[in-house]
Amino acid sequence: MRAVLVLALGFHYTYLILALKNNSSSVIIVGAGPAGIAAATKLLSNGFHNILILEAEPRIGGRINSVKFFDAYVDLGARWCHGQVNNIVYDMVKDMNLLGRNEFSKKLYHSSRKFVDQKFVDDFFKIVEDIYEGHDDKKINYTNLGEYCEEEYIKIVNEKFGNDPTKHELALSMVHFFEFYVLGGEGSFSWHDIAAVADYQECEGEKLQNWYGKGYKTFLDVLMKKYPNPKKQLPVDDKILLNKDVSKIQWNQSAMNKSVKLWCSDGSTYEADSVIFTPSVGVLKERAEEIFTPRLPQIKLDAIRNIGFGAVMKVYMHFPHIWWGNLTGFNLLWSEEDSKAAVQEFLEGPNWKGRSWISYMSHVLEADQNPHVLVAWFTGPLIPAIEILPNEVLINGIYFSLEKFLGHIYRVTKPDSIIPSKWYTNPHFRGTYSFQTPEAHRTSAESILAQPLNNYDNSPILMFAGEATNPTHYGTVQGAVETGYREANRILKIPFCYPIPIK
Ligand SMILES: Cc1cc2nc3c(=O)[nH]c(=O)nc-3n(C[C@H](O)[C@H](O)[C@H](O)COP(=O)(O)OP(=O)(O)OC[C@H]3O[C@@H](n4cnc5c(N)ncnc54)[C@H](O)[C@@H]3O)c2cc1C
Repeated sequence: MRAVLVLALGFHYTYLILALKNNSSSVIIVGAGPAGIAAATKLLSNGFHNILILEAEPRIGGRINSVKFFDAYVDLGARWCHGQVNNIVYDMVKDMNLLGRNEFSKKLYHSSRKFVDQKFVDDFFKIVEDIYEGHDDKKINYTNLGEYCEEEYIKIVNEKFGNDPTKHELALSMVHFFEFYVLGGEGSFSWHDIAAVADYQECEGEKLQNWYGKGYKTFLDVLMKKYPNPKKQLPVDDKILLNKDVSKIQWNQSAMNKSVKLWCSDGSTYEADSVIFTPSVGVLKERAEEIFTPRLPQIKLDAIRNIGFGAVMKVYMHFPHIWWGNLTGFNLLWSEEDSKAAVQEFLEGPNWKGRSWISYMSHVLEADQNPHVLVAWFTGPLIPAIEILPNEVLINGIYFSLEKFLGHIYRVTKPDSIIPSKWYTNPHFRGTYSFQTPEAHRTSAESILAQPLNNYDNSPILMFAGEATNPTHYGTVQGAVETGYREANRILKIPFCYPIPIK
């Protein structure tokens, strides 16, 4: 081993790179989602250019996927910048006038078409939000979020509506709807899988900031410095190879350099001194045992098993006419009887515990700057089965529901074009966003997954980034970006392997 002094011309400065190894260190980043791109930009902007990004999909962005649909971009994955305080995404764009704002619509319609008083609906949402965001002191005695929410909800409903049998009965029947509301935020298949007390830290401020119809991809351009001045962009694109599904990673803790070798499904191989692995915990759950040689330490495999990962599904729908007047969205409340009856009335598609798949569509929202487009949200255990339905069945089912709920008020039509998300079906994601299970909370699984695996000289060779490695901002884009920066900084801190700018 010998020390080598290298003089290199960097982006703005001349750099003195003091490398301890035979050649300058190299890093491979697996995955070009927000975490991978953030890691690359941090390395590049610090003059560390010996990087390669291997991305399995034919596009960059990962779970940011903005696609043009009629008048604007729609987001099949992340849509909103959640919060303004301590939010790295917000901090990067706040002075660029890029963010708009959505309101979560509190209009609610009933499957029986009976009118539901708006004051009652507002009270319901207030109860639900207070319980969901409630204090940890109350939650601590419960084994999971579902158990806590159910008990607390029934208690409050009894207190508030006990003297009004009609409202009391209606409120009690809304517990399923409450679960759908929670599942939309957590991405779990059941609220009984979610920790009652979790480590997630909300960023204060506006929760639903959208990208004015330009999509969340706008943020990736800011991250790569393509926006606002393309002349200042970092050369991230030059470092990315698309359609590279990494199928095997051999890591060698006793090698002096090129400690990691990677194989892709197309037969190509690559070597590097270290690797930052960013694919979702859904991918890790399915493939960790097959990808890593030697096997990952048991503590990491346990963390991967314990971190929660489920899915939600969005269906963007274009309608030839705006039949919904000036509604900005609506919630659909299925009664128990109607959701069961729907199994007989609408025969196509799957059912679960006697409930038709169409009754798992609980919210419909407007799209941003796209007047003819609505987006339907599905949650719950049937997502894997709903994702594989043909578009025609989806269209028929959605139309059946919309007509059932709103047909007496509006001239509902079928959408003439839809784009359904398929995050669970896609082997490069296997779900949407991570959540904390009781076991993940108890064992701090996200922090364990975030720990690097080190070489004989204690330098990191196999690092993990991605939203599920963020102990407090998991499940979000800002959480993913923070982890990409974290791992890039880890590399930049390795003694003698980072560039020193010379004035
Ligand atoms: C439907 C949906 C709605 C969401 N809404 C929001 C929201 O409103 N706001 C918010 O902040 N967050 C939201 N999120 C979450 C947010 O999108 C994610 O937390 C974030 O994108 C995760 O980034 P990541 O880099 O950790 O992982 P990813 O974005 O999943 O990136 C990992 C990359 O690795 C690639 N990959 C996988 N396997 C391999 C392999 N074997 N070889 C090579 N490459 C591989 C993948 O293709 C992917 O590009 C949403 C996500 C979804 C799906």
